[in-house]
Formats: sequence, C-alpha cells, structure tokens
Amino acid sequence: MSGSLSVIGLGPGNPETLTPEAAAALEAADALYGYGPYLDRVPARAGQTRHASDNREEDARAAAALRHAAEGARVAMVSGGDPGVFAMAAAVCEQIESGDAAWRQLDVAVVPGITAMLAVAARVGAPLGHDFCAMSLSDNLKPWELIERRLAAAAGAGFVIALYNPISRARPWQLGKAFERLRQQLPPSTPVVFGRAVGREQETVLVSELEKADPSVADMATLIIVGSPMTRVIARPGRAPLVYTPRFVEDGK
Ligand code: SAH
Repeated sequence: MSGSLSVIGLGPGNPETLTPEAAAALEAADALYGYGPYLDRVPARAGQTRHASDNREEDARAAAALRHAAEGARVAMVSGGDPGVFAMAAAVCEQIESGDAAWRQLDVAVVPGITAMLAVAARVGAPLGHDFCAMSLSDNLKPWELIERRLAAAAGAGFVIALYNPISRARPWQLGKAFERLRQQLPPSTPVVFGRAVGREQETVLVSELEKADPSVADMATLIIVGSPMTRVIARPGRAPLVYTPRFVEDGK
C-alpha cells in the first residue's frame, strides 16, 4: 500500500505563520480533507481534489481520509493551529485504532503548527513563561463536572490555564461558570487575556482581570489565558501592557 496521510497544522490564520514544512506537505497532496473554512485558507493547486466537511463530522472525515489514503492516494488532512491540540490528529488515531486493520500500514505523518495559545501568548508578552496547562471547555466529549474539577485542580496547583473552545451557541453558560469556579480560588486581579481570531482580519486582543472578566467578550474563535497568582501586567505609557509569568517562583505561591 503506497498511500499516505499527513495531518497538517495551518497555524492560527496568517499565511506567514504556516511552516514551510506544512506548505510543502500541502503542495505534495493529491487530496485535501478538512473543515471548510480551514480548507479555504489553502491556495488551490491544479489536480488536487478538496473534500470539505462540517465542523461536527470529525470521525467521518477522518475515516474518509483514511479510506482514500488506503486506495493509494497522498491525502492531507488540515487543522487550524496544531493538529495535535484538540484537533484532527487524535481523531485520525482514534479511527486507526478502531477501524480497518489495513489503516495501520499507512504512512501517517503529523505536521505541527502554531497552536492558538502560543499565538495569543505572543501577542501580549509571556503569560506562559512558567508552568501552564491547556483545557478545552467543550463538554461535548467529556462531562462538565470533570471540567470543573480540572479547573479547580489546575488553579490550585498554580498553573496558568489556556482555555480552548470557551463558548459557542450550543454552550452559552460554560465560560461564565468556569470564571465563577476560578474566582473561588484565584485573586480578583488575576490577569485574563482574551485573544480573538489572532492572525486573522478580525483579530482582537483584550487584557482583563478575573474579577471583571466578561464571558460575552468571547466567541468560538477566542482563546483565553487565565493567569496564575504569579502572572503580572507591566503597564507601559502609550503602549499596550505586557502580561507575563516570571520563570521563578516566589515563596508561598
Ligand atoms: N487545533 C487548534 C485548536 C482547535 S480547538 C489549535 O491548535 O489552535 C478550537 C479553538 O481554538 C477555538 O475555540 C479557540 O479557542 C482556539 N483558536 C483557534 N484558532 C484561534 C485563533 N486564530 N485565535 C484565537 N483562538 C483560536
């Protein structure tokens, strides 16, 4: 079987942050699979077919791409950001583990991309400069109770927390609930960064505080970074503040 499947990260949105490795892998593919808006970011190439699918059809999309690769094609699956972060690389692995035994013989490559939390962190300074964790706030694939437990554990352990999938039309209250939970443990002045559509035309970045953090500022294209008790904001006259978490730990924090 000569087919292959590359699972490719497109980065946050701007073409400059697509890696040369990802660009070469996209160019080499016979067929592209992915969520429509992500596929739209890939320049067209003659002779390459495109198979767009809806956001919620990840299992079917992964299986279709694997079937196509098993027929001998060079298939590329695209993801926003990094394909291994709350995205298609894990969906592909799930299908390989449970699907056709022949899929285990395919040449599978994961091509990394700049994930949203790194793109947002870079806009404001260095909020991820010390220990941090990342969570998806979506309770589509895990129970809400578990999310609250993990938020509490992460805040209690002193991690900066990057929140992916903070809110959607189908999940309107979860982010407010998450802020409430975090307020029980973290100082009111804890910096909270909202980075929306970073690297795209509609980009907005807002630095707030946990006490005032307003869930309605966020949408599906927003990544939120909640600081730890060590995270600081450096005010700079006439310039945007710098948000950072020092590399060293102060006593008692
Ligand atoms: N694989 C992607 C994440 C997929 S989950 C990555 O590595 O970035 C989708 C979530 O990612 C969104 O709800 C949002 O929280 C975040 N996200 C993706 N692109 C973003 C961008 N350009 N700016 C801010 N957040 C983004």
